[in-house]
Amino acid sequence: MSTVIKNELPNKFSNRILVLTLLAILTIAVFSAYLSYKSQVRISEEKELFKLDCIASATAYKISGEDHSYLVAAYPNRILKSRAVQDSVYRKIKELMDGAQEMTKVPSEMYTVLSDTTSDQLYFGIGTVRSEWLSAMEDYPEELMRDFEKGGMVRSYIVNGSDKLSAFSPIRDANNKVVSVLQVEETRDAFMDKSLDQIMVNVYISLGFIAIIGTLMYFSVRNLLKRQERIALEKIELDGLRRELVTNVSHDLRTPLASIHGYIETVLMKFDSLSGEEIRKYLNTSLQGTEKLRGLVDELFELSKLESRERKLNEELLSLGELAQDVTNQFRQQANQQNIKLQTQIPSSLPMVTGDIALLDRVLQNVIGNSLKFCDSGDTILVSAGHLEGRVWVEIKDSGAGISEEDLPHIFNRFHKGKSRRSGSGLGLAIVKSILELHGATYQIFSQEGQGTTFHFDLPVARTT
Ligand code: ADP
Repeated sequence: MSTVIKNELPNKFSNRILVLTLLAILTIAVFSAYLSYKSQVRISEEKELFKLDCIASATAYKISGEDHSYLVAAYPNRILKSRAVQDSVYRKIKELMDGAQEMTKVPSEMYTVLSDTTSDQLYFGIGTVRSEWLSAMEDYPEELMRDFEKGGMVRSYIVNGSDKLSAFSPIRDANNKVVSVLQVEETRDAFMDKSLDQIMVNVYISLGFIAIIGTLMYFSVRNLLKRQERIALEKIELDGLRRELVTNVSHDLRTPLASIHGYIETVLMKFDSLSGEEIRKYLNTSLQGTEKLRGLVDELFELSKLESRERKLNEELLSLGELAQDVTNQFRQQANQQNIKLQTQIPSSLPMVTGDIALLDRVLQNVIGNSLKFCDSGDTILVSAGHLEGRVWVEIKDSGAGISEEDLPHIFNRFHKGKSRRSGSGLGLAIVKSILELHGATYQIFSQEGQGTTFHFDLPVARTT
């Protein structure tokens, strides 16, 4: 029953949480990749602008303001452009700009700009690419108008449909008067082509970090969920166990209780007509019933303590061989009465182990007791012990009824008992299992129906310091 519930509830819940975690990690990754891309573009832009600014101011510094003023005065309009181009002063300034452009490898335009404060207009002067002479600029950036005298940078402005980064720097005459500015522009596309590789490297690095953090997060969430799932499962299992226990216990208690009740009732009802002998017989049967009940209650109590881990091991150094010998001796009389040969093969020099004597005593009592229970007259039980590879082992081998193949996998389960009349509460081997597991022992049972049963367990040799 419990296994069915086991696999449903917590799994659905935790799968949902895991999917949500994964989605959250993915969203964070995409978002942060986007942010990282944006900030990398901005940083690169900043660097590029700074470079353009340096080029603009270095070149503007070399241009003579007087020469520029002379050209503007001598060739004040477009018509005079062809003449200006032949002027040595024009060529001197143009060569200066061409040289600077070639040297700095900025794939852009470089030109001088004049400001007409009376008409609030800007005009092109000499340029490396533009050839207009004194033509009005249509789309000039705000920053250029505002900071004409100081120089500055323009992060982004659209001119003739293309997005530009730009820097400008004043050209001064001998009196330090600003006569023009030199502007250096770079198209955003050209800049992006250059920087994209570097930007993407940085984006990949940050994505890598997120992937690592995300994976760690994923695994820690998974572990957390697994732990919660385990706790939930244990709770469900425990509830199932409790139900199973109540059902089995009430069933096992009812039979002896009914018989005790029946006998006592008979004695009371027929007290006058019963002989003393008969009364004794009935009361004795009732007494056996109460002993059976007491045994069952004791076993239940023991098992519940062991399984709730309440029972602390009272560990001490002990000789498993001697303990096996003692317990076997306690059964000798019973074996003789049943005509069962009870033999031991226990070397006297076995190493010590650590364990709880009372509990290990209980293991041997249960296992040897079972052998006696399932042996018939003429059968043999051999209790042997030995030492192998750092462990001390004990084996109880009987030639009794054996266990059927279908029962064998279940005999350590609580309340599992064979079909035989001799079977008891079905708690004995469950107690054995709990005790051995508490001791970190390994155990095995081999059996064949009609051939006999062998129970084997071993404990590590005690560490002596
Ligand atoms: P109980 O002996 O009280 O029924 P146990 O838990 O000790 O309960 O054993 C469970 C079942 O395992 C027994 O009912 C019996 O069928 C089987 N069994 C255990 N030991 C032996 C044995 N030595 N020989 C045959 N059957 C055994």
